[in-house]
Amino acid sequence: MATLFEKIIARQIPATIVYEDDETLAFRDIHPAAPVHILVVPKKPIENITAASAEDINLLGKCLLVCRTVAEMEGLTDYRVVTNNGAGVGQSVFHLHFHVLGGRSFMWPPG
Ligand code: AMP
Repeated sequence: MATLFEKIIARQIPATIVYEDDETLAFRDIHPAAPVHILVVPKKPIENITAASAEDINLLGKCLLVCRTVAEMEGLTDYRVVTNNGAGVGQSVFHLHFHVLGGRSFMWPPG
């Protein structure tokens, strides 16, 4: 069954898309945890980092550079990039995604 993010990629459900190329999509998180909260996803349906394979190496790097691109588009110089890998650490959508968060200060380590 298609995940929520596959449906967003396929334009079956709406999202506020801020960036797209042939391999990735970026859209605003529906429940923002910061003034800027964008999700960067590969169009390829990879569940998470654990499920990625060696052939995904360029795609994973591409996703990180897209995180930088959207941060720059939002005027951010300082920002956090997070991926929750597994339900035990908060992954709720099982399509790999990178949260790009900025516009406020953050604690380290995260709670
Ligand atoms: P995670 O918990 O790391 O799997 O992150 C999933 C994220 O998807 C959460 O931050 C949700 O707020 C976000 N989310 C859920 N539904 C939507 C949606 N329809 N459009 C945009 N973001 C969503």
